[in-house]
Amino acid sequence: MIIDSNINCKNYETEILNNYQIYSYECPKCQSKHYWVRHATYGRNVVLVENYVFVEMKMEILRLKCNSCKSTHAILPSAIIPYCIYSLACIFKIITEHYLKKNSVICIAKKYKISFQLIYHFLKLFSSFINECISTLRILEIIKCASIPTLKEILKLIVGNFENNSFAKEYAKINNWPFLMKKFQNIYPIPIYIGFANL
Ligand SMILES: [Zn+2]
Repeated sequence: MIIDSNINCKNYETEILNNYQIYSYECPKCQSKHYWVRHATYGRNVVLVENYVFVEMKMEILRLKCNSCKSTHAILPSAIIPYCIYSLACIFKIITEHYLKKNSVICIAKKYKISFQLIYHFLKLFSSFINECISTLRILEIIKCASIPTLKEILKLIVGNFENNSFAKEYAKINNWPFLMKKFQNIYPIPIYIGFANL
């Protein structure tokens, strides 16, 4: 897969799906450039958040084939977490409500009309990335002291220092991994190739 930071779920159709162009992506498998051909498309659902409502949207995702090594790669917008139906913005909204606005899980569940199990899932997902968040923030020199910050402090630093999920972009740059992607996280060698474009 190739995650393109210049693309979001809303402009995907015009910029990628219906935009017949010469693709300049670097192949995550063989590092060739400009050998791309359109291979296929597939349907994928993504949940976005608009005001206080979770909205499920169906997307058609383009898969490109590298003519140099014959591997195929889906082109994904950066708002998407691979293998996860919920967008980064959805998860951020909920964890922010909980940790920074101090709303209870029951209260958030009512406000967004989602189950409390889903909220706990998001909180657990974020906390499972905490060590990577700390090391990323240290590399970016946002955390300078030696003490280990709490989950709430880390979220505060992320929200305060990065606009519109730009933390995910910095995270990908440093860790070479999509922020909050659980699948294959601790598997070596990783059975897939992940590339990032326009970071
Ligand atoms: Zn290739």
